[in-house]
Amino acid sequence: MHDVTVPNVNIGLVGHVDHGKTTLVSGMTGVWTDRHSEEMKRGISIRLGYADATFYRCKNHEGSEAFSAQEVCPICGEKGEPFRTVSFVDAPGHETLMATMLSGSALMDGAMLVIAANEPCPQPQTKEHLMALELVGIKNIVIVQNKIDVVSQADAVKHYQQIKKFVKGTIAEDAPIIPISAQKGINIGALIEALNEYIPSPERDPEAKAQMLIARSFDINKPGSHWRDMRGGVIGGSLVSGVIKDGDEIEVRPGIRTEVENRTVWEPIQTKVVSIHTGKTKVAEATPGGLMALGSKLDPAITKSDTLVGQVAGHIGELPPVRDHLVFEVKLMDRVVGSGSDLEIAPLKHREPLMLSVGTAVTVGVVTNTKKDQAEVVLKRPVCAEVGARIAISRQVEGRWRLIGMGTLTE
Ligand code: GDP
Ligand code: MG
Repeated sequence: MHDVTVPNVNIGLVGHVDHGKTTLVSGMTGVWTDRHSEEMKRGISIRLGYADATFYRCKNHEGSEAFSAQEVCPICGEKGEPFRTVSFVDAPGHETLMATMLSGSALMDGAMLVIAANEPCPQPQTKEHLMALELVGIKNIVIVQNKIDVVSQADAVKHYQQIKKFVKGTIAEDAPIIPISAQKGINIGALIEALNEYIPSPERDPEAKAQMLIARSFDINKPGSHWRDMRGGVIGGSLVSGVIKDGDEIEVRPGIRTEVENRTVWEPIQTKVVSIHTGKTKVAEATPGGLMALGSKLDPAITKSDTLVGQVAGHIGELPPVRDHLVFEVKLMDRVVGSGSDLEIAPLKHREPLMLSVGTAVTVGVVTNTKKDQAEVVLKRPVCAEVGARIAISRQVEGRWRLIGMGTLTE
């Protein structure tokens, strides 16, 4: 039986900047995911945040009132029964941070599209993020109509109709729309109920090869620590398949960049797992879904400041190949969304630079060959990816990287 206090599903928070994603995560988990001083100062999320929430059911109530993210029932004060733990992946909503949003989308089993009720719908990144969910193929969506505490009921109904119209014909057409106030904690029970129904924990194959997508990497030592107290590098992310156990020998690819005879080569890193944490809980093995952190024997200089983001970890010899060029089938959209003006998307051009997101990796490359529905791109930084992997394609439009389509790796 799965331990209900260990997360086994990742739920993304996407949507326009300032619509309340980080506030919602904080209300449900007690963790403010904008941890870095720069994020605090600017008041926006820059990196991917993540935090776990356990959901409880109180036996004294029926329907959505029975659900809460707090152990003690907010209505009657009775202790609830835990039944599910989820990991939230909090994506930044600012238009300049689409690369981070796309990198996070690789980890999402489902997503909440957060839309503030006090602004007309859709705002640019409401559109762009929904399009990203569509391209990445995230079908399990719950729409959160937030900030209902600051609009009249009549305006909330009008805004609801705007959302309905906006999602018509998209992947979110049949998604439920749950009105809440993240700040005041209104209607969170109904949201939990919708998450149970629309974002179930996926079935996994425990026999599959382990593949962990790295979303963060850290040096957890305090500056000036004595070498005897030094702890090895930590990598954070999510297993998309397989199992990693405490004590396993693992490999990280593409690894570290080195120069050999004036050539840049990437060497895989091998190390041993010395601890596994999900949230604050130490566990003996990591299973798919849920975000986790692996302690390793790596030199923390290798893992500090997110250096390994976008890389893949797994058992030695079992990871997909490292590629310095990608050949993929291309499906472009008709128009660019996300900026003020919806410009038409022209076909890919020979020698044009593209930003490609593969798993949690974001890499820039140059088109070296392009036919009708095919492209070949030589990468500045290699990626570890399997044939069939989805690639989000962005191009520079008016000085910004804009999502223009999707690719599927063919060789
Ligand atoms: P994010 O950019 O989507 O992560 O948005 P934040 O969570 O950082 O919130 C942006 C601002 O909206 C902050 O000032 C929050 O206090 C405020 N906010 C978030 N949720 C609500 C809500 O439900 N009601 C009201 N009135 N304000 C909210
Ligand atoms: Mg935020």
